[in-house]
Amino acid sequence: MPRRFKGERMHDTMAKTNNPGDLKYCPYCRTELIIREEGLLHRLACPDCGWIYYRNPVAAAGGVVVRDNRVCLVRRAIEPRRGDWTLPAGFVEYDETPAECAERELEEETGLKVAVTGLHGVYAGFDDPRQRVVLVLYRMREIAVREPVAGDDADEVGFYTLDQLPGRLAFRAHVMALDDLAKQLTSDA
Ligand SMILES: [Zn+2]
Repeated sequence: MPRRFKGERMHDTMAKTNNPGDLKYCPYCRTELIIREEGLLHRLACPDCGWIYYRNPVAAAGGVVVRDNRVCLVRRAIEPRRGDWTLPAGFVEYDETPAECAERELEEETGLKVAVTGLHGVYAGFDDPRQRVVLVLYRMREIAVREPVAGDDADEVGFYTLDQLPGRLAFRAHVMALDDLAKQLTSDA
């Protein structure tokens, strides 16, 4: 079921040209790009070699780890949204699966040793200033007893009840994910 926050329109930027604003020449043959209608959208295209710029969201993955009705959150040590909180997550590397990425990010940002047990949800991220994101969040269980230790892009980590979050959440995809978690925890109780 697609959900958006009010005011968000996926096609706001794409309706014009699908142009990131800084791409002027073909990355392959250096010819100046033109705008062409391709697959119902206006896209940048190379009139010489035929290359078309398909702008797609970037995949990110992370995990939902719960201890006694408390969820693991990290505080961002880097921009954008430095100082705000998220579920542990990061961008999927080219040679890893989303689930591998989620387990790796958990270990890097929280020090926890976890394994994916299922899917929590898939969320569209429209408010990351760097790019549009598809965020895949997994349910996870801890496979070793560890105290969480913040690392990598996180400078604080902890387990928090949903009605007492430690601060503002950085991205709306994470707000939606915690809404879904709240429903689950209520129905499990
Ligand atoms: Zn070209």
